[in-house]
Amino acid sequence: MKEKILISACLLGTNCKYNGGNNLKQELMPNLKALKEKFELIALCPEELGGLSTPREPAEIIGKKVITKFSRTDVSEQFLMGATICVNIAQQNSCKIAILKERSPSCGVYQIYDGSFGKKLIVGQGLTTRRLSAAGVKIYSEDEICKVI
Ligand code: SF4
Repeated sequence: MKEKILISACLLGTNCKYNGGNNLKQELMPNLKALKEKFELIALCPEELGGLSTPREPAEIIGKKVITKFSRTDVSEQFLMGATICVNIAQQNSCKIAILKERSPSCGVYQIYDGSFGKKLIVGQGLTTRRLSAAGVKIYSEDEICKVI
């Protein structure tokens, strides 16, 4: 039986991104193919799992909160709910690895946007990444798939 790992659903082509699109990139295809051969992939989108709809307003982490760009709605609760559900899924499936989408306020691995909605990146992790990491799951960005295949 193949080991199960988590992956951001948008990386596999699911249209769960805030703008209704996905993050399937042609250059990642060979690595994704190898990943599917080696592991059973559990695709998830923490923001949808947390109850947010798609498409949705973009949001960024500002201090301890997650705030949307236009209506300035506090969506921290939904983001945290999604992160908690992802940790539960990881534990139920004995997942030790997650491949997550860089720069997302949920899935960012090394970088996130700075909260100004000005496309400025800072060092940091998304909320799901933080929770999974604290639960002992090893996190890789989509640019690091070669490290696990
Ligand atoms: S929350 Fe994660 S899985 Fe969902 S669209 Fe954003 S980066 Fe992709």
